[in-house]
Amino acid sequence: MSAFDTVLMVDWSGGNDRGPTPKKDAIWIGGSDMAPLYQRNRHHAETWLRARIDRALQQGERVLLGFDFPFGYPKGFAQALTKTSDPFAVWDWLERRIEDLPEGNNRWEIAAELNRLFPGVGPFWGNGGKTDWADLPRKGRDRTSDTLPERRSVELAAPRAFPVWQLAGAGSVGSQVLMGLPVLARLRRDFGAAISVWPFQPPDGQVVLAEIWPSILNDLVHAHMHPGAIRDAVQVDLIAAAFAGVSADALAEMLSHADDEEGWILGLGHEDLLIEALTKPKPPVLANDCFALPPGVDWTPVAEAMARLRTAIAPVVAPVATPLDVAAGRILAADVVATRANPPAANAAVDGYGFAQTSDAAEITLPLVAGRAAAGQAFDGAVPAGHAVRILTGAALPQGVDTVVLEEDCAVTPLAVSFRGPIKRGSNTRAAGEDFAIGHTVLPRGAVLRSPDIALAAAAGAGTVTAFAPLRVGVLSTGDELVEATAQDRGVVDANRPMLSALVARWGYTLVDLGIAPDDPDAVRAALDRGADTADVILTSGGASAGDEDHISALLRTEGHLTAWRIALKPGRPLAMAMWRGTPVFGLPGNPVAAFVCTLLFARPALSVLAGGAWLEPLRLELPAAFAKRKKAGRSEYPRARQTADGRAEVFTSEGSGRISGLSWANGLLELGPEAREIRQGDLVTFLPFAGFGL
Ligand code: AMP
Ligand code: MG
Repeated sequence: MSAFDTVLMVDWSGGNDRGPTPKKDAIWIGGSDMAPLYQRNRHHAETWLRARIDRALQQGERVLLGFDFPFGYPKGFAQALTKTSDPFAVWDWLERRIEDLPEGNNRWEIAAELNRLFPGVGPFWGNGGKTDWADLPRKGRDRTSDTLPERRSVELAAPRAFPVWQLAGAGSVGSQVLMGLPVLARLRRDFGAAISVWPFQPPDGQVVLAEIWPSILNDLVHAHMHPGAIRDAVQVDLIAAAFAGVSADALAEMLSHADDEEGWILGLGHEDLLIEALTKPKPPVLANDCFALPPGVDWTPVAEAMARLRTAIAPVVAPVATPLDVAAGRILAADVVATRANPPAANAAVDGYGFAQTSDAAEITLPLVAGRAAAGQAFDGAVPAGHAVRILTGAALPQGVDTVVLEEDCAVTPLAVSFRGPIKRGSNTRAAGEDFAIGHTVLPRGAVLRSPDIALAAAAGAGTVTAFAPLRVGVLSTGDELVEATAQDRGVVDANRPMLSALVARWGYTLVDLGIAPDDPDAVRAALDRGADTADVILTSGGASAGDEDHISALLRTEGHLTAWRIALKPGRPLAMAMWRGTPVFGLPGNPVAAFVCTLLFARPALSVLAGGAWLEPLRLELPAAFAKRKKAGRSEYPRARQTADGRAEVFTSEGSGRISGLSWANGLLELGPEAREIRQGDLVTFLPFAGFGL
């Protein structure tokens, strides 16, 4: 983890915001805590940044906030402009003079004015506007001014970077500087000491502004582009992830560079570390003592055990780029943001005839133009006013068509179509983007991808999503008495491992079969070692209480940071939680019924969180009891139960926790809380259907 809680990276824009449609090259903000965010102009971006900084300050969150334009000018510029070499004096000068409205701004004028400070023509050049400005040459080679260096020192170290003097042309950055520094000056003025500006100031503010140059990651960005992807969005997303992923030491090293006038590019010269942070993400690790109970805690109520477990764990798998065709069942590690709109263009919702609706007449007859519009086969040309065209479902509306009449409502000849009016304009059409627009977050981080979600991601242009690597779950049975179901010799058949393996598969995790270990410390140790090497989490059963042969407990206690949780729960009670060489271990009871109940109640939500998903609550239904029962107060009971045809809950005849037949008989559990003492026929009881556990 870096010393920052959040990394935000902004791809700035120097141009105007004209025209009705959002532009791809406007502002994009990437963040380690969010999907790339589109901002149509600087004004929107500044508002968003202010709100975001406010939130960070309120929550005590440290933020690294990068902008992709130089924070300073080559040596000598500040002195000539402001009579001091202080770069912030330049920021403030620009803040006073730059006018910025969505319709236009005065950057050409200001650049021309700045040029007049220096002898000769220049140093600013390039003019993307129609108006000529005296003192602002259109071509770089027309400049004669040579009092200032062409490049900052950092741009000598990064020869592909564009000099700040160039204001227009592909790749140029000069306009962004003129239009960006005023915004930074205002943030600095309004947030005071909470903001520090690297490398002019030490990076110890709660929010640190830094100059970035996304081209550092050009190759990776290129490899990550897919059809329809917006380059700026991909770029800020990756660069934010890279800075969020580098080690705290590496980032501190990058930030140790200081400069008092020209500025520097954060990460320059450390590209390998940034690339490594993206290509070899380090899976998070749980603390060794994460399962420890506070001293004095003995019999833990179920709800409290659940709450403790919930705070102890976090995802242990790394996010990886995952092609959609293998993404089913995987958990999203980042939001999916639409790079395509759905539908991409306005189109027909039915088969019929398309026309421009203008008439309120009760009967309308329109001549038909030749040809037709079908899905994927655009109509060639425009449909003249007062005409109609044959159109099929899904066809893009040809120019001149805003309404479609259903073919069943029409009388048609080869030359004309008639139907009853009036018809509302827009009838039977779908607007472009009416389902979702570009930039819309269609799926949130943490979502488990089901087939409908795969369809949505595909339609949104996400051929690859960022999903957590599948959680590998090791399953181990322990006990000298256990034999495989296929064995000829007598013994207790290992029922837990097939049961747990089936649950692991059902929940979409990757099974690692660790076999049966006899009650022998060396054998158990070897099995746990294998588990730690090949799995992300281990489920063991048996040997979890404190008896002589309970080697799992003994071993985990001496070598594995064990916490034996004595949970006030029937069936179940002992649940051992431990870390074995950095891998979490759930030591489940040996009795199959208890092992099953503890797995559903405790392991299922925990596995989901370890895998990057949400803590999962069971589905709870209130049903009238079809039985009567007394129970001990102070502990929770989870008898095996079944929903009867008339909607009541019945329980299995025997409560013996070795009775596997009762598990199979049941289609749910009852949840009888610690306060319950006596249940009478017809009382409402809480029924947890197996289906609600994903079974
Ligand atoms: P333990 O927790 O090892 O004392 O085991 C408690 C009871 O569960 C004993 O009767 C064991 O034989 C039984 N048991 C333990 N593991 C399994 C298993 N994998 N399959 C079936 N029964 C088991
Ligand atoms: Mg045993």
